[in-house]
Amino acid sequence: MLLVLEESLAKALNQDTVLEALENIALGRREGKHLIFAKRRTLKSFINCPAMSKRARQVYSKLYENLPQMQGYIQTFIRRVEVIASDIGLSARVEEHCKVITIPANYFCDSALIQKTVFIAENLDDAAFYKTIAEIYLKWKKLKGIKILLEPYLGGGSTTEKAYKLIQDSQERFCLCFLDSDKKSPHSPIGNTAKSVMDIDNPNQPFCECFVINVREIENFIPTRLYSQLSAGDPNRMKCVNFLEQLERSSIAEARKYLDIKKGLKLGEILQASSNTSFSKDWMNWLNYISPLAIKVSKQCLNNEVCMREKNCDCIITTGLGENILKAVVELIEKPTKDKLTKQKIAEMVDQLLKAEWEHLGEIIVAWSCGTLKMSTAG
Ligand SMILES: [Zn+2]
Repeated sequence: MLLVLEESLAKALNQDTVLEALENIALGRREGKHLIFAKRRTLKSFINCPAMSKRARQVYSKLYENLPQMQGYIQTFIRRVEVIASDIGLSARVEEHCKVITIPANYFCDSALIQKTVFIAENLDDAAFYKTIAEIYLKWKKLKGIKILLEPYLGGGSTTEKAYKLIQDSQERFCLCFLDSDKKSPHSPIGNTAKSVMDIDNPNQPFCECFVINVREIENFIPTRLYSQLSAGDPNRMKCVNFLEQLERSSIAEARKYLDIKKGLKLGEILQASSNTSFSKDWMNWLNYISPLAIKVSKQCLNNEVCMREKNCDCIITTGLGENILKAVVELIEKPTKDKLTKQKIAEMVDQLLKAEWEHLGEIIVAWSCGTLKMSTAG
């Protein structure tokens, strides 16, 4: 997180809570866990404050030397924290493109708040892939010297809601939570896990933010070219990859965001869904455009809008890539092989449809998790 140390702190250096907070914030920056910005004259007051430890003053003088770079970050990030001297409670406001969270200094007297941001996602593979998206976002935006620092916290199902509530109520940690929408089509409702977390999300507790992704689940964010590289030599998986490629070139490319990429989709599932559900309406509409795709669907079933074999329908729109596909993707990214998948190579695999989504995710993750290299203050 980018912490902006407001001018009022410089005038309150006679207060023990403010000094304690500034010591902790300096420690957090020395460990590289957060980015810090303050005006030149504010930093000057810290550097000249005899009550502050030598180590903390060293941190602030190094920040003083690197101010121009930090100015650029302020304009880029869509979230930042403003630390103020007086204890007037927590608040948040929107300033241009950025949500500014105001936190009184006394919250930083506990060192918990300077630790890495907690990241709640479905599981560790989800967290790893989101981190990759954020790192590629840094590349696209040419943001150098920033590290993505997250402490993954296992969510999934009802655990997500409990974990989010616990962290939100504690007011001790920064926390970002990403939720699968589980939407089966554009107008379908969001799933129960996402809904229950959004219901308990309290905007008056700005240390935490939860975010429902704009696609069905994380597998829908993974580029087809990445799936293709992973599936080479596996004819079953390649069938799904070929379908995704065709779909992306078609007039119903949007369907890729909602397709069940793990399990695949049969015509029967659409035709048997209750006609007043959004899943049925959206997919019945898409079926009008599906015939140019090379799929194994009986023309008779498609035209009659009834699957002849009902539950035994073998009108396969697409097979899936399997339950463990995300795990395989993360292993491919993290495995140090000779033809290792570099961030640059992954960035090139992201097509236009996904790029907008990745940029949106990237700016949120980067804002909440930006840290940097450890600072040496020896000597
Ligand atoms: Zn059929």
